[in-house]
Amino acid sequence: MTLLERGERVGKKVLATGNGRCNLSNTAIEGASGSAYYNNPDFVAPTLSRYGCEVVRAFFEELGLLTIADERGWVFPRTRSANSVLDVLWAQVRRLGVEVHTGCTARRLSADAHDEHSEHRRLLVETDKQDFAGRAVVLACGVVPDLAALACQQTLGATPILGPLKTAAEPLKGLDGLRVNCRVRLLDGRACVGEETGEILFRNYGVSGIAIFNLSRLASPGQVLSLDLFPELTEAELMALLTERLRLLAGPLRPSAELNAADFLTGTLHARLALAVLSAAGLRPTEVLNPTALPRLAHVLKDYRLAVRGGPTEVQAQVTRGGLDPQQFSPATLESRTHPGLFAAGECLSIDGPCGGFNLHWAWSSALLAAIQATAAMRS
Ligand SMILES: Cc1cc2nc3c(=O)[nH]c(=O)nc-3n(C[C@H](O)[C@H](O)[C@H](O)COP(=O)(O)OP(=O)(O)OC[C@H]3O[C@@H](n4cnc5c(N)ncnc54)[C@H](O)[C@@H]3O)c2cc1C
Repeated sequence: MTLLERGERVGKKVLATGNGRCNLSNTAIEGASGSAYYNNPDFVAPTLSRYGCEVVRAFFEELGLLTIADERGWVFPRTRSANSVLDVLWAQVRRLGVEVHTGCTARRLSADAHDEHSEHRRLLVETDKQDFAGRAVVLACGVVPDLAALACQQTLGATPILGPLKTAAEPLKGLDGLRVNCRVRLLDGRACVGEETGEILFRNYGVSGIAIFNLSRLASPGQVLSLDLFPELTEAELMALLTERLRLLAGPLRPSAELNAADFLTGTLHARLALAVLSAAGLRPTEVLNPTALPRLAHVLKDYRLAVRGGPTEVQAQVTRGGLDPQQFSPATLESRTHPGLFAAGECLSIDGPCGGFNLHWAWSSALLAAIQATAAMRS
């Protein structure tokens, strides 16, 4: 068995995952419903039904890695260190006597010309160092420029996802670095195409945070993010709260003539966000708050809008969608429909899921299936 890696170190990316803690799977990936989290549920279903979360955890535990799941079902190594994941995988590579070539970039795959007339055709992998021939090849290289030559087929366009979104600049004024818990809906015209609840982080170019990362799988320029800054209340309940608040704050102790719009929101929202909300509602912070402005204010607090201008850059994204079209591979074996002996696993296939361990789970589970099928192909 031979492993080719273009970098100086195998598995380097694993060390960066989950902020160095490696969120390696998710307990929701069990049974038929697990596949619904992915962009191509029908394709991933046969792999996930064989290699669900429990099986993947058992695989790692057999290698010596203890795992734990947090209250959300996100699975981590018990050490909370991605190094432990790489260490146990390395130990197994050594136990199995795998021949490892680092600093070796695969360039092209083809049928071995010397073997064309043999019953068992071999595949030839050309690299920048030397050629390798074998009865089975598993591609697990992510979405890279050489992918079409490595898989002998056209690739789908690459789109970076699971990262921050660029938005219109005006509503972000003064908000850079601010975190807020809210419900976010992604609107395409009037239709809501995605909804997430959680912490978002304002940046000077747009918004970030896990909720936004997940929406970046669905977002495109021209759509709108609608932030509900009071998800725990309906608009009518919020209106009642604001009305009561005005009655209290502009009561006998504080003449209404002195209660300006900024003072009215003090204590409800972070001061910088309050200013942005007032601006979106067309109110100046220093103006005396007129009760007739309350419905407008309640509405903006429930529907603070940011126009989407673009998705994450390659550097910001955790995953690249695109690469190999799953239609060209058998979902039961992950073998190429056109090149027998060629198998694909992980991100090089256009499969992605949300944050929470779904992408690494796909990488492990598809690699387990492809490896078993490739071994069978070598022995046949
Ligand atoms: C910062 C960050 C954090 C993340 N956190 C999480 C997380 O916590 N949980 C989660 O589920 N997912 C996470 N992900 C996503 C996850 O890391 C990927 O989905 C997963 O690593 C994909 O695995 P893969 O083996 O398909 O590809 P990769 O991990 O990209 O590995 C491909 C390997 O192939 C090598 N290679 C490429 N081309 C060639 C070539 N031509 N010849 C030889 N070698 C080649 C590369 O150098 C690389 O080592 C994160 C991603 C990032 C960037």
